[in-house]
Amino acid sequence: MKVREFKQFIGGEWAAPASGQTFESLDPSTEEVIATVGRGDAADIDAAVNAARAAFPAWRDRKPKERARLLYDLARAIEAHADDLAHWETLDSGKPLPRARGEVLSTARYFEFYAGAADKYYGETIPLGADYIDFTLREPMGVTAHIVPWNFPLNMIGRSVAPALALGNTAVVKPAEQTPLTALLLAELMQEVGFPAGVYNVVNGFGIEAGAPLTAHPDIDCITFTGSVETGRIIMKTAAEHIKPVVLELGGKSPNIIFADTDLGLAVAEAAKGIYSNTGQVCSAGSRVLVEAGIRDAFVEQLVAHTSRIKIGRGVDSPEMGPLVSREQYERVEVYMGIGREEGAEVAAGGARPPEFDKGYFWQPTILDRVTPDMRVAQEEIFGPVLAVLTFEDEAEALEIANGVRYGLVAGIFTNDINKAMRLARDLKAGQVYVNEYFAGGEETPFGGYKQSGFGREKGLEALANYSQVKNVAIRIR
Ligand code: ADP
Repeated sequence: MKVREFKQFIGGEWAAPASGQTFESLDPSTEEVIATVGRGDAADIDAAVNAARAAFPAWRDRKPKERARLLYDLARAIEAHADDLAHWETLDSGKPLPRARGEVLSTARYFEFYAGAADKYYGETIPLGADYIDFTLREPMGVTAHIVPWNFPLNMIGRSVAPALALGNTAVVKPAEQTPLTALLLAELMQEVGFPAGVYNVVNGFGIEAGAPLTAHPDIDCITFTGSVETGRIIMKTAAEHIKPVVLELGGKSPNIIFADTDLGLAVAEAAKGIYSNTGQVCSAGSRVLVEAGIRDAFVEQLVAHTSRIKIGRGVDSPEMGPLVSREQYERVEVYMGIGREEGAEVAAGGARPPEFDKGYFWQPTILDRVTPDMRVAQEEIFGPVLAVLTFEDEAEALEIANGVRYGLVAGIFTNDINKAMRLARDLKAGQVYVNEYFAGGEETPFGGYKQSGFGREKGLEALANYSQVKNVAIRIR
């Protein structure tokens, strides 16, 4: 395959990074180089922030309906180029082609959704009595910084850049170094539909070299970060230096609670979907299944059978599950397998590299059974296709185990008892609760964490708050 060359996108121009350096992006299915990419550093970040700053006043002052039109046009352009975008996303990340395509269409949907909101995000009037007129204005923040992870490279850009641009902010995006490509392909489409130069800028590069200078730049106005708790902590400290607001969407160890009264076939399929989707590299993965003691054996037996049928392969061949994104991620999964075995978990399925692959970062879909809540494999995020199965006796114990981790991103509940579902939905410490369908929701539904899963909400109308400030104007009538 011909290695494709990618530059940076700053101020509407394609340019090599100031240092002239590049890095390689690999196909995790083959470990072959698919592209060389500009390796940005502080100088490029500075240029991008300056470009975004220069573009801000005119973009802010455009009529909201005009900004909306451009966002709609972009949504249509993304759909028209869905095959090409999905192809590159798949090569870059290893994810199955149909999944990549779904994520591309969801990206289009983010631009469409927030286009619809651009001219409908109103302020309020506040009654202070006859002598006053008081109202609020919602102003854009200014230059927004977006540090993006590798598990949903394009989709996460849509998720945070669309609401930012809709409200009149400009954006600097630092994609993950593992998946640098689709952010740039999106820039091509932005140019094609006529976004002004500097509204959307992309600087690729490594976390320390490009991400850190972006978060430390004095002229950004807010930071949206999705990634690990460790990096989130560093970013929050950096943001504190300049008192910049941050939205942090960090890890998860989300519980999927299966009661005996549920449809077993449904629960098995949804539990598998919850952990094996995107090879388990999903912050909201249902990585802990909590199953009621009475159906434990039947559930595990059916889940093992289901798991054994999952087809693994190269993303471009549209398997059910592709490889992990990188060697680093592969080694992390391997380490956690060792920890699980040492802690006494039983490997009921998978647990190793699939023997049919001698290249690529493939890992078998894996079930760790007889896990107890205190084990590290029940507490720590593995970020691979490794499911921990725990057992509970009653609802109270299920709740205690479910909430007994440092994370609180999402939670699933499978039951036919509406009261049980509602009690748990009320008491679970999680930003999203799914009942009878794992990952239920969409671009419209607010998403974010409790506890160390982070704070701030992305998606839905809630996300608009991240990219706007409220100004109150109080007028005394004399
Ligand atoms: P992972 O460990 O899963 O790769 P990270 O949280 O380290 O996830 O990475 C998510 C994003 O954060 C990537 O775009 C990465 O380059 C970026 N990043 C990593 N370290 C830093 C840092 N110190 N400052 C800013 N961004 C960073």
